[in-house]
Amino acid sequence: MKLHEYQSKKLFERYEVPIPKGRVASTAAEAGQIAEELGGRTVIKSQVLVGGRGKAGGIRLAKNANEAREFAAVILGMEIKGLPVRKVLVDEAVGFEQEIYLSIINDRVNRCPVVMASAAGGVDIEEVAQITPEKIVRININPLLGLQDFQARDIALAIDLPREQWKNFIKILHGLYRVFSETDATLAEINPLVITKDQRMLALDAKMIIDDNALFRHPELNEFRDFDIEAPAEVEARKYGLSFIKLDGEIGCMVNGAGLAMASMDIIKQFGGEPANFLDIGGGAGAVKVSAALRIILSDPKVKVILINIFGGITRCDEVANGLLTAMKEVKISVPVVVRLVGTNAAEGRALLSDANVITADTLVEAARKAVALANGGSL
Ligand code: GDP
Ligand code: MN
Repeated sequence: MKLHEYQSKKLFERYEVPIPKGRVASTAAEAGQIAEELGGRTVIKSQVLVGGRGKAGGIRLAKNANEAREFAAVILGMEIKGLPVRKVLVDEAVGFEQEIYLSIINDRVNRCPVVMASAAGGVDIEEVAQITPEKIVRININPLLGLQDFQARDIALAIDLPREQWKNFIKILHGLYRVFSETDATLAEINPLVITKDQRMLALDAKMIIDDNALFRHPELNEFRDFDIEAPAEVEARKYGLSFIKLDGEIGCMVNGAGLAMASMDIIKQFGGEPANFLDIGGGAGAVKVSAALRIILSDPKVKVILINIFGGITRCDEVANGLLTAMKEVKISVPVVVRLVGTNAAEGRALLSDANVITADTLVEAARKAVALANGGSL
């Protein structure tokens, strides 16, 4: 789950990472009001879950409350990289001397978190990473020991941080590491972390991504979920307890079990097809889940064929077949459906489908071949 800047900043505040004064607004009038409270000079920042807002015109510096209102009106009417702006953050404007980049992500190769820092922070950090990667310092954190003071000092030294700022920096880095690990984040980023003209350090921007698989441990983060911007199909799937990930291909997949779902996708690719989604209906899925799954798959206009691969263990093939029949009554299925059922009650399941308008297959290989042929416009 990606968090908006204003949400990430709320978390930062709880972990004593200093942020500018400010509040979020959904209307221009509200933004003007906040700007007035902050003394006029403010930064109006679009809250959308994409990077590069600054370069896209989604961040404006206002000299007074009137300008803040005016800019907020403009920004609230914008779309940035396809996402409508529904909220703006109104922050006190801060004059600064230096922009630093600081982030923590998981380093999969080394199987531990890694801190990345650079003296060349700001909106061009992607370019820095590409052209002068040596300007970005990396230090791995042992997750059992946590961030050590000497590591924080090593980073400060490596980015040539002025000595007077070391104390601030080390405290901020500890806060960032704590918020990263305690919220089960996969990313905690400050870009820019600035040294202000009056020699404070402030996180002017904040970006966090929380691991969806750990969200159940963080009911306090539920308020942050932003249904507007999530793929509607994924929201719908979560409601029914389905694990669904939208992909770009043309073969809709419905499988029970994550491993089998991956294997099914691999085999589809092997035969030259592209899966339209990952979908694990889970163990013991009944008719309600199956018909929800079908509706979700069919909501993707790119889907040209559906491949259903069920290995009945706890899941009963006759239940799945019933779900399919129910769904076919409720939803108009405009694409061919290839079904492979094996395992518990497979014979009953197949019998139920004998009159239905579906293509059956005995093995996964056969099913995948048929699905790919149909997706490519061929016949069987
Ligand atoms: P991003 O473009 O989405 O990463 O948005 P940021 O929040 O990082 O803002 C982009 C740039 O705007 C920053 O790198 C700063 O240079 C500038 N900026 C943001 N907030 C302030 C502020 O309070 N005062 C000033 N002077 N510049 C700011
Ligand atoms: Mn930024």
